[in-house]
Order: sequence, then structure tokens, then C-alpha cells
Amino acid sequence: MTQDDCLFCKILAGEIPSTEVASNEDAYAFRDISPNAPTHVVVVPRRHYRDVADISHKEPELLGKVAALAAEVADQEGVTESGWRLVANTGPDAGQTVFHVHFHVLGGEPLGALNA
Ligand code: IMP
Repeated sequence: MTQDDCLFCKILAGEIPSTEVASNEDAYAFRDISPNAPTHVVVVPRRHYRDVADISHKEPELLGKVAALAAEVADQEGVTESGWRLVANTGPDAGQTVFHVHFHVLGGEPLGALNA
């Protein structure tokens, strides 16, 4: 299941280059092109869902698998002990720009409070 006009589907298909960080049969992790922290990795399911709400309704177990790969990425990046943030922007007010559900794995420096 892919969508023709989806940037992350094109990355998954190898049509747009990306820097792989981790991968398995369900999900793929790659470096964000415009990092906001020393560790900034995007983790996506291989199947296309629009956002967290969409995947939660249709294939909730896959969302858990994507989160599990994000935790593996944190380990691999060496930020498990220092701490890291898992972010899923959902919809325009949250600043979602790519409508293929994804987690941001952010870490490697103090990230500041969300309610600051
Ligand atoms: P969103 O704003 O939460 O939807 O996150 C989309 C993310 O994708 C942003 O952090 C972008 O920097 C990132 N991004 C956009 N295009 C590319 C690309 O070609 N490679 C890697 N990351 C990208």
C-alpha cells in the first residue's frame, strides 16, 4: 500500500535517497534532512497511513512496531540513558508536513520542556 504523491513512500521505494539508520520488514528509520537535534531520525511504517489516528484505527499493532523500531534507534544512537523524545506531529496545527505517519526520534542534547 503506497501513495503516488507521498514523499516517504518514494523514500521507501528508493526513488528519493535517504540515510538509513535502522530497518525491518515493517518499518524504516532514516536521518531527518533538516535535523533539530544531534539525533533526529524519522521512523515510518512501510505501509502508507496518513497519521497516527489513521494507523490507530486501521492497524494499531503496526504503530507499536514502529515505536519499537524508534526505541532501537535510540539505543543505536546511544541516547537511551540520557533520554530522548518521540514525536508524532498530527495535522496542521501540530506542523505535520508529510502525511505518511512518522515518529521523530530526537535526542543527544537537553530538549527543553514541552510546556515551556
Ligand atoms: P513533519 O513536519 O512532522 O511532518 O515531519 C516531516 C519531516 O520530514 C521534517 O522534519 C523534514 O525535515 C523531514 N524531511 C522532509 N523531506 C525529507 C527527506 O527527503 N529526507 C529526510 N527527511 C525529510
